Amino acid sequence: MNNLKKLDGEKIAAAYARFDQLLIEGKGALCRNEAGKEFLDFTSGIGVNSLGFCDSDWITAVCGQLQKIQHASNLYFTEPQIRLADALTKRSGMSKVFFANSGAEAAECAIKAARKYGNLRSGGKRNQIITLSGSFHGRTMAAITATGQEHYHKDFYPFVPGFRYCPTGDSLKLTSLIDDQVCAVMLELVQGEGGVLDMDQSFVRSAEAMCRKNDILLIVDEVQTGIGRTGTLFAYEQYGIEPDMVMFAKGIGGGLPLGGVLFNSKTKDILQPGDHGSTFGGNPIACAGALAVMEKLTPDFLTDVKEKGIFLKGALSEMPEIYDLSGLGLMLGFKVKGKTSAQVVADAMENGLLLLTAKDKVRLLPPLIISMEQLQQGVDIIQKVLRNS
Ligand SMILES: *Cc1c(COP(=O)(O)O)cnc(C)c1O
Repeated sequence: MNNLKKLDGEKIAAAYARFDQLLIEGKGALCRNEAGKEFLDFTSGIGVNSLGFCDSDWITAVCGQLQKIQHASNLYFTEPQIRLADALTKRSGMSKVFFANSGAEAAECAIKAARKYGNLRSGGKRNQIITLSGSFHGRTMAAITATGQEHYHKDFYPFVPGFRYCPTGDSLKLTSLIDDQVCAVMLELVQGEGGVLDMDQSFVRSAEAMCRKNDILLIVDEVQTGIGRTGTLFAYEQYGIEPDMVMFAKGIGGGLPLGGVLFNSKTKDILQPGDHGSTFGGNPIACAGALAVMEKLTPDFLTDVKEKGIFLKGALSEMPEIYDLSGLGLMLGFKVKGKTSAQVVADAMENGLLLLTAKDKVRLLPPLIISMEQLQQGVDIIQKVLRNS
């Protein structure tokens, strides 16, 4: 196995600073490395394994589809894609969906749709998109341009023109950035990569009001917050807003690559044949897995997620070493007095708990199916790690 890690270093572009663990197998919220050491997982593969590792209903759905048809291209109808579109629109109240494979592709689709909407209404003059500082929308050129963090930009100039950045939470600045060239505002409701920062309700509502007043589209990036992560199917439900487009990815496929954009009644017919496409987008196997995820996410299940989130946040808030605790549902972040987030993650791993960082914060994204007992075990390990500093 050490040979494998060495081969990785030699053969795979060094784009990732990997933790020194080769993960072999998992079930639910537990997984094992090559030496058989067991870990409790508070990462879900960065919010992807929403049902944890190898959920049996998900496996049945995926394997069942695998034995029928694995891919047909979007030139044909396939059943799982249509059923998933029906489930997503019914459950969200949105009207239509475009399927892609990832969060960055969801961003590309939303950006193109917003520009087409604006350009068609203005003779090609309305195509600027406002995004927020601290945001993260993906790594392709337009998505990285939309990402309002210089850290991700350095070395990759020049960027896609037509983006404006607003400091997060600054309604006055947002007002001043809006003019007759702006077609959309794109924002996360809890900035994930930016440090698990929940948006202020009043800022989000005033952004929505400004969009409505100026016929500007409101795009919410729910790639990390969506699909039950915050205790509702989408986080926007908790903000009392009605977005024009909703981006999703990470948790939807339960571990398979899938993402996309939901459109409301205003935006549902922007994309027409030839405007956009994806060879793999909406692949039937990924969609069959996603249907299994959607079936698990009943209202009762989501209430449980919310309660687990409240329990976890409550337990963390009682630890005196922890400050700047933030996030919604099972998407939480915090800082630790006298320790960097990387140190906390390394120490927790040593003690059998997998955690993430987000900028200078420790980030928790446990699988939605995690049990209360497992949450308590994770809390105990975090407690131990913080006490031993
Ligand atoms: C992860 C993430 C993306 C990018 O998703 P990829 O699948 O890595 O392209 C976009 N937006 C948000 C909010 C994310 O958390």
